[in-house]
Amino acid sequence: MNLKLRVWRQRGPSDPGRMITYSVEGISPDASFLEMLDVLNEKLILDGDDPIAFEGICGMCGMMINGVAHGPERATTTCQLHLRHFSDGDTIDVEPWRAAAFPVVKDLVVDRGAFDRIIQAGGYVTAPTGAAPDAHATPVPKADADAAFEAATCIGCGACVAACPNGSAMLFTAAKVAHLGLLPQGQPERHTRVLDMIDAQDAAGFGGCTNAGECTAVCPKGIPLTLIGRLNSDYRHAATANSR
Ligand code: SF4
Repeated sequence: MNLKLRVWRQRGPSDPGRMITYSVEGISPDASFLEMLDVLNEKLILDGDDPIAFEGICGMCGMMINGVAHGPERATTTCQLHLRHFSDGDTIDVEPWRAAAFPVVKDLVVDRGAFDRIIQAGGYVTAPTGAAPDAHATPVPKADADAAFEAATCIGCGACVAACPNGSAMLFTAAKVAHLGLLPQGQPERHTRVLDMIDAQDAAGFGGCTNAGECTAVCPKGIPLTLIGRLNSDYRHAATANSR
């Protein structure tokens, strides 16, 4: 396949940035989008140009491709997006996540430290140290275990934020609150967790949720909107109980 790429190039956080056009020729339709960027970067390096900065670690491969988080296939990751989903001769726009809370570091790399601060605020359980408890010492109903596991599959990629017209992180925070709040081990801090994580989310500059639903449409792990409803319910109970 022969493709034209219009890629966002930005030397650093204070550089205004611009789209630069590149040609990629003779690439297999079975190559992934990230493999294609590797091929392009090899050519740029051989030509003495600055390679395009992007992240290829699991959960970090986020980029807007033709205006869609992780590309037109939706609900996948960029490493699983293959060129056969495009047509020979296509021009493809590639940009970093666009959200105030995810400042651009360079080219397609953004700083997702805001997610770390939300986790630091409450994404944990406290447990006494000592010998490991016996397996099954704390029974967990199967339905709760399954729902907690589904929530725990969130990889923190940030596609939900990038897709949201408000730049909201509610789907991410909802998944992190639910995966602990659904389990018995997560109950002692259930109220403080949701209050502190929402405070951290607001302090990081994420927008509010208006139920647009774009987040779940692009989420590679299928985190459902119902978890945002659960988050709101938890928050209401916690705020009432703690008079915040
Ligand atoms: S909720 Fe989905 S889209 Fe958002 S960070 Fe988690 S895995 Fe990524």
